[in-house]
Amino acid sequence: LGGSISRAIQQMSNATVIDEKVLNDCLNEITRALLQADVQFKLVRDMQTNIKKIVNLDDLAAGHNKRKIIQQAIFNELCKMLDPGKPSFTPKKGKTSVVMFVGLQGSGKTTTCTKYAHYHQRKGWKPALVCADTFRAGAFDQLKQNATKAKIPFYGSYMESDPVKIAVEGVERFKKENCDLIIVDTSGRHKQEAALFEEMRQVSEATKPDLVIFVMDSSIGQAAFDQAQAFKQSVSVGAVIVTKMDGHAKGGGALSAVAATKSPVIFIGTGEHMDEFEVFDVKPFVSRLLGMGDWSGFMDKIHDVVPMDQQPELLQKLTEGTFTLRIMYDQFQNILNMGPIGQMFQMLPGFSAELMPKGHEKESQAKLKRYMTIMDSMTAEELDSTNPKLMNASRIMRIARGSGRQVRDVEEMLEEYKRLAKVWSKMKGLKIPKKGEMSAL
Ligand code: GDP
Ligand code: MG
Repeated sequence: LGGSISRAIQQMSNATVIDEKVLNDCLNEITRALLQADVQFKLVRDMQTNIKKIVNLDDLAAGHNKRKIIQQAIFNELCKMLDPGKPSFTPKKGKTSVVMFVGLQGSGKTTTCTKYAHYHQRKGWKPALVCADTFRAGAFDQLKQNATKAKIPFYGSYMESDPVKIAVEGVERFKKENCDLIIVDTSGRHKQEAALFEEMRQVSEATKPDLVIFVMDSSIGQAAFDQAQAFKQSVSVGAVIVTKMDGHAKGGGALSAVAATKSPVIFIGTGEHMDEFEVFDVKPFVSRLLGMGDWSGFMDKIHDVVPMDQQPELLQKLTEGTFTLRIMYDQFQNILNMGPIGQMFQMLPGFSAELMPKGHEKESQAKLKRYMTIMDSMTAEELDSTNPKLMNASRIMRIARGSGRQVRDVEEMLEEYKRLAKVWSKMKGLKIPKKGEMSAL
C-alpha cells in the first residue's frame, strides 16, 4: 500500500508538466490503495473530490513542492474524516458512569472491556465489569477469568438467561458499591441480527448508559460502515474502539465507523493482552493508513526543531533503543521546559496522546513533576538500569518513602516508564534520513 502511494506521488513529481491528467492518475492510484486499506468507497470518492478542490494546479505548475502539497492535502483530509467534530462523553473519576460495549461476536468486546477497565484502574479508578452476554456459552467464564486476572470486581450468572435482568442487577450492585466506572459487556451473536439489535436496545434502555462504545475488528473490511450504522440505529453509540490493530489490517474501516456513528475513535487494541491498548491518536493512525510508518512525521520534526549540534546525540540514543529511567527523566525535563526537544517528544506516537492529552496541560505537567520527584529518590543504578527486574518491592517501598509518596504512585510511574520504553523500543535500528533526504511518503 505504502509503495503504491509513494509511487503515485513519485511518478507525479517526475512528470515535467503537472496537468489535470497527471493529478488524476495520481489520485486514482491513491484511491486504489485506500480501498485496499478498507476505506469505504464513498469516503474515498469524497476525499478525492475535496483534494481536487484544495490542490491548485497553478500552484503545482509554478514549481512549489508538489509532493508536499499533495501529501499534506491527503493527510489532512483523512485526519478530518476521523474527527466527528465533537468529543465523546468522558467518564469522570469518582462519579458513577455506566459504559456499555456493543459489537458483533468476535470483534473483541469482552477483551476490550477488561482492557478499558484495567486502563482506568491503573489510574486510580474503581471499575467493575458486568457480563450481560447470556447467549454465548462460556461468555461469563471468559469475563470472570479476565476480571479475576486484573483484580476487577465482576458480576454475571451461569443460570439467568435474561441479559436485561443481569445488566440491571450488576449495575445496581456496583452503584451501591460506589464503583465509578461500571462496564456492561453484551452479546454479539451473528445469526439473528434483528434479535441482537432488539436486545441491545433493551439493555440500553434498562441500564441507561452514559456512553455506548462500538467495538470494531480492524479487519472487517468494507462491512464496517453498515455494521456501525446498524448498531447506531438501535443504541446511541458515542465512541468507537478499533481492535486487532496488531494484525495486517490498516484499519481503514475506522473512517467508516466514525462516519456512520458520528463518534470519535477513542482507543485501539493492539494485541490480546491486557495492556495492549492505546489511546487513539489520529496522526500516527493516518500515517499507517497511508503506509507512511509511524515515524516519518517524527523524523521530519527532529530535523525541524532540534538544534543541529544536538541531533547526533539524540538520534544515537533513539536508534540504540534502550530507554532508561534517566532518559525518561531528561525527556520530562525537556517537555516541561518546552524547549525544542520537548516539543519534539510530543510528536512521538504514543507519547503525546497519553502523557499530555490536549486540554489537560496543567494536570499533565503536574504529573510529570510528580514522576520526577519520585525519580529524584532513585539511585544512579536504578536510573541507568536496563534490567526490568531490578525494581523490586523493597526498592519501590524505599523510593516511596524517600519521595513522600505512596507505593502505588511509584508503581504508576514505573508503569508509565514501561509503556514509554515500549514506544521507544520501536525506534531501535531505525534508519534516520539526513535532512533533505526525507522521502515523500
Ligand atoms: P467478543 O466476542 O466481541 O467478546 O470478542 P472477544 O473479546 O472474545 O475476542 C475475540 C478474539 O479476539 C479473542 O481471541 C481475543 O483474544 C482476540 N482479540 C481481541 N482484541 C484483540 C486485539 O486487539 N488484538 C488481537 N491480536 N486479538 C484480539
Ligand atoms: Mg464477548
